[in-house]
Amino acid sequence: MNPTITLSWPEPHVALLTLDMPDKGANILSSAVVAELRERLDEVAAHSDTLGVVLISGKPGMFIAGADLGEFIAGLDAPPDQTIAKSQAGQQLFRRLAELPFVTVAAIDGICVGGGAELAMWCDRRVLSNDAKTSYGFPEVKLGLLPGWGGTARLPRMIGLSNAVEMITGGENIDPQEAWALGVADDVTSADTLLSAAIRLVHREAESKAYQRDRETWAAPIVMSPNELGFLGAAASAVILGQTKGRFPAPMAALELMLESQAQPLDNALRMESEAFARLFGTEVNRALLNIYFLTDRNKRDRGVDTDVRGADVTSVGVVGAGIMGGGIAAANLKRGLPTVLTDASADALRSGAEAVMKDAAYDRKTKAVNAENAMRVGALLNLGSMQHVAGCDVVVEAIVENMDIKRKVLQALESEMRPDAVLGSNTSTIPITKLADGLARPEQFCGIHFFNPVRRMKLVEVIRGESTTDETVATAVGYAKRVGKMPIVVHDGPGFLVNRLLFPYMNESLQLLMEGADIGEIEKASTRFGMPMGPLALYDMVGLDTALYAGRVMWEAFPERIHALPILPALVKQGRLGQKSGSGFFNYANRKGKAESDPYIDEFLTGYVKERRAHDRETLTWRLFAPMILEATRVLEEKLVRDVRDVDLGMVFGLGFPAFRGGLLCWADTIGAAEIVERLKPLAELGSRFEPTPLLLEMARRKHSFYGSH
Ligand code: NAD
Repeated sequence: MNPTITLSWPEPHVALLTLDMPDKGANILSSAVVAELRERLDEVAAHSDTLGVVLISGKPGMFIAGADLGEFIAGLDAPPDQTIAKSQAGQQLFRRLAELPFVTVAAIDGICVGGGAELAMWCDRRVLSNDAKTSYGFPEVKLGLLPGWGGTARLPRMIGLSNAVEMITGGENIDPQEAWALGVADDVTSADTLLSAAIRLVHREAESKAYQRDRETWAAPIVMSPNELGFLGAAASAVILGQTKGRFPAPMAALELMLESQAQPLDNALRMESEAFARLFGTEVNRALLNIYFLTDRNKRDRGVDTDVRGADVTSVGVVGAGIMGGGIAAANLKRGLPTVLTDASADALRSGAEAVMKDAAYDRKTKAVNAENAMRVGALLNLGSMQHVAGCDVVVEAIVENMDIKRKVLQALESEMRPDAVLGSNTSTIPITKLADGLARPEQFCGIHFFNPVRRMKLVEVIRGESTTDETVATAVGYAKRVGKMPIVVHDGPGFLVNRLLFPYMNESLQLLMEGADIGEIEKASTRFGMPMGPLALYDMVGLDTALYAGRVMWEAFPERIHALPILPALVKQGRLGQKSGSGFFNYANRKGKAESDPYIDEFLTGYVKERRAHDRETLTWRLFAPMILEATRVLEEKLVRDVRDVDLGMVFGLGFPAFRGGLLCWADTIGAAEIVERLKPLAELGSRFEPTPLLLEMARRKHSFYGSH
């Protein structure tokens, strides 16, 4: 096997270790690479006249992407002793970098995260390239872990406890300028002068020996007063609790560890880190977050088709309809530098839509305001035009009213003006793509491109294949969605496609529960305590009760045996209670902040529908809400609506806000197990066929299969 790390001597007495994993886009610190590093360091150390060693990557834009997560997965069930031993072996090797009898310098261009950031941190000095790709950070908490190769011990000693706490518990990467300001980077230079800058640093340090003083400081305990520590602990815990809502244990564990270990000698701090790492490793949340990592990673590589057909490059996009969705889609295009033409049947709608697009696209997250420079840049990419103008683009997305006849007319008019090779997509949430394609001359170049609301925040896009849609069209739509920073999943046509199909049984069940006399607040809590961003009834209010009624009709017409038209929704719509947009729905929004408040009227209203008030315990409520979702997912798998079980979970997490700390719907279902699910469905059998185990579930239970293992 070709080595990953090669040793060369660009100058007498200056060693260069170049990391370049053969046949891989990224350098990963697998155990084989770590072993190679050990050998190469031995080789360098054998030269007694070495002045210093520079570590660099042979891959432009990529230093090291972290540890080998595949090895993590393989070791998830290992006993804690083994996990501790692995962490300690890494610490000892990296620590050698700070103990060699010459200076060590990391020359970083591109991504340097996780284990890679730890390796660089154990070097005496770091030079970063000022390339836009260069970023440095410790994302371990996002996987439910903390740095385990000395990060929590060395970083606070280098850049101060408070800065280190922010970097490690927040898990966000920093850019070269921030790295310079924090003292992580000793020099920032262009990528092509990186190596010479690193070598210069070797000579400077070899002469001044400044690195030797830093070695002493960075190995000693940190001196902080109890007051300072108390303040830092309280402030950081408040931020962490605000962000994690107590669901993600890793950031708090990292904080507690760093607060305790900072006053310890380095050896103790490292031992404490390994133990804390092992306590998080293999926990349910760690497994769930690793699953999310692998889902997203797979999605990045998935072209959406199983053939080697390639999609066309997308250099311009037309958007028809400048409302909530069309505006959001146009803004997403502009943010990624994609020239966009926007049109609308109403001149007023186009004007106000364009204003909203500019506000969204030019928004600067750091300053929390519209940035004038951004506005100039994105403004130059936005054109407001006619239908003909829109039709000249590579991809056209229709986002007008949800009405089949109007949509069909507009799609046909668009198609007649479009280039024969261009792709036409509809953002419909409910109308079957094959039905919309009826009347098109080139249905093979038409598909659903379903963004979620709000487009700015929701990562998911469903690319829906109609009966005639070709692989090339799908690949182009998938490529386009990725180009604008989204995660596309390809699904077959059908009522509600994937996400709304799984959402509906859950939302409908909340209405069933209301009619059985369950308390509205308790239903909401059962959902939010499970981890959903909001309860199902608040979600009805957000979507709009009229819209939900319309979409619901599509679902109960398609699946009458399990989704029933319940009278509550039409009654509220009739009364003009449409949810947030009308100021009241299941909740009242007539307060100053427009927040959901319980409404006594709803209790009164429900008495007309409820035979008797019945308390349900929270566990029952949670199961009643989520079991229909699992069952619907098994039907979706039986029908082969999705290409892979992982697409269901990706859709649920990034389209619906299903809690990431559960790893996705089916990942969570696997933690229960098919046999146990069947068991837990038995007491619900009397409620009707919607709780009947599906043939797939029964088969899985019989064969002891899991969703992830058997698909
Ligand atoms: P919207 O009412 O905010 O905007 C629709 C726009 O289309 C309006 O500006 C209207 O003037 C324009 N329009 C209507 N007829 C037109 C025509 N013939 N030609 C050109 N423009 C026309 O609606 P929206 O919420 O943005 O929804 C648009 C589409 O996206 C619908 O198909 C909807 O089902 C789908 N969708 C909506 C959401 C959501 O949460 N709002 C989510 C996903 C998908």
